[in-house]
Amino acid sequence: ERAREILERTKERDTNKLGVEAMELLEAYGIPTPQGAIVSDKNAAVEAAKDIPGNVVMKIVSPDILHKSDIGGVEVSVPDDEVASTYDDLIARARNYQPDATILGVQVQEMADLDAGTETIVGINRDPQFGPLVMFGLGGIFVEVLEDATFRVAPVSEPEAEEMIDEIDSAPLLRGARGREPVDEAGVVETIQRISKLVTDFPAILELDINPLVATPDGVVAVDIRATVD
Ligand code: ADP
Ligand code: MG
Repeated sequence: ERAREILERTKERDTNKLGVEAMELLEAYGIPTPQGAIVSDKNAAVEAAKDIPGNVVMKIVSPDILHKSDIGGVEVSVPDDEVASTYDDLIARARNYQPDATILGVQVQEMADLDAGTETIVGINRDPQFGPLVMFGLGGIFVEVLEDATFRVAPVSEPEAEEMIDEIDSAPLLRGARGREPVDEAGVVETIQRISKLVTDFPAILELDINPLVATPDGVVAVDIRATVD
């Protein structure tokens, strides 16, 4: 129900690209997302950071900026006393990149534990021949370089989701290579299945990527989501 409302709302806008709304969609489907807020002034950014334990991540929110880190639009591990100046920096970089960009604000987000975690990607798209496809692979900034990913036609069953993890070359990274603690594999399997359900429930979702879904020993968290809707 909530997912339907979110999709209805986005129809009234002039873009078919979803950023932060996509985060609400995932929440509605029970996929964990970091605590956070979207703010449009410095003071609100400082207040938002106070509510979040530890350092925060700050990201520019703009429908005109798809790859935020490419333009310096993501700052990780920002301490409370640098939140205000980071807010200004992010806005300035976005303006510098594209003076007429629509800037919706800055997202202040809880940090995921990247030291203990691995960045994965879970995505969906529609193939003219096979229909809805679910993708799983290694995520983060190396996704294009390493091309370590695998696909299934939705709906994806639990055994199929487990197979997807088996299939990628980086599976040992998730399973405790080099003395690392294994990540919450059940959380990854669950996320693949929930995404599969989302794409079969809503034909209007043409494309959606969680990149990264940070998988840690304690669970998974979807920190960046992009979607294209009909
Ligand atoms: P984009 O893909 O648009 O550049 P992301 O939101 O994916 O922006 O951020 C880029 C990178 O910053 C991520 O791949 C990840 O390494 C790091 N990052 C982003 N959000 C968080 C977070 N909440 N916790 C820890 N690291 C993060
Ligand atoms: Mg990303």
